[in-house]
This record gives sequence, structure tokens and C-alpha cells, in this order.
Amino acid sequence: MNLESYIRSTPDFPKPGIIFRDFTPMLANGPAFQEMIDRLKARHQDTPIDVVVGIEARGFILAAALAYALGAGTVLVRKEGKLPHATHRQEYLLEYGSNVLEIQQDAFQDGQRILIIDDVLATGGTVAATVEIIRAHFDVEIREIDFLMELDDLKGREKLADLPVHSVLHY
Ligand code: 5GP
Repeated sequence: MNLESYIRSTPDFPKPGIIFRDFTPMLANGPAFQEMIDRLKARHQDTPIDVVVGIEARGFILAAALAYALGAGTVLVRKEGKLPHATHRQEYLLEYGSNVLEIQQDAFQDGQRILIIDDVLATGGTVAATVEIIRAHFDVEIREIDFLMELDDLKGREKLADLPVHSVLHY
């Protein structure tokens, strides 16, 4: 199946000059959504994963489906102020200004093998902050970081130099 045909590229969204890669057509199509999750699942068939970490918001959809397919749990990394109970926070820089990510303090048990997933790897700032917050507070093993789409020119994977990174589609 040609999964790329289910990605819609919208120019000048959300700002002029940005081409937004949108996987909602893939989500809306049962066989395409299933194929995408099956391809990701196949990568982790032989390496046990305890928890799939999803990054807000589109990463949640992928994380939940993949975790179910693998029989793993799901942990949410969210924007500031959305998670109840005690959280850790991590600030990170954007092109203009900064943002804050949070994770619950009891998100993992020591030694768990985890996988981080998001829909798009662009500059890598969001996922690098996710790795930072996890490494700063938890004794877990990050097995891989997966994306549905990677914007190669932005070289986001250079921010994840020491970790295995896999993207299903490249732009
Ligand atoms: P980064 O921090 O790597 O620059 O940006 C990645 C984050 O922004 C991801 O959470 C991703 O969902 C979002 N993002 C950046 N560019 C796009 C895009 O073209 N399409 C979609 N769907 N999300 C994007």
C-alpha cells in the first residue's frame, strides 16, 4: 500500500511558508491506518516494549494504537497544565519563544523499555525535550524513537544523535 497517498500536504499552514503534512486522511481510512500501525508494530515484534510514549497531540493517536498492538502501556507527554497529579516539567525553545512539556512523576517503573512516538519529526525540539525530561527523572531504557513522517531537510535527528530513530515516510 502506498501510505504517502494518504498524507495531505497543505501549503501556508499554520503560517506562510510552512507546508503542513497532515495524516488525518490516513486516520480516516481503516486499511491505511491499520497498515501504518502494522508497519510500526513489525519493527518491535522481537524486542519487548513495556510502554509507548505519545507526544501531544497527534502522537497520542499513534501511541495508543501501537501500544495496543504490542500489548504495551501508553504514557502521555503533554503541554503545560493538562496533566493532573504530580508532574515533572521541561521547558524547550521554539523558533520564537518557548514551550513547556510535562509528564506524570509516576509514569514509569525502573528498568522499563520504552518507545517514543510522534507524527512528525521537524526540527527535533519537541522530541529532544521529551527525551530530556524522561532521562532527567526516570531510569528507563529508550529503545527507539519512531515517527510517521520526517522532514529530512530540518535535520531533526541530529538532536537525537545517540538514539535509534525510525520514520515510516520521509519528506
Ligand atoms: P519539532 O519540534 O520537531 O520542530 O516539531 C515537531 C512537532 O510539531 C510535532 O509534535 C508535530 O506534531 C508538529 N509538527 C511540525 N510540523 C508539522 C507538520 O508539517 N505536520 C504536522 N502534522 N505536525 C507538525
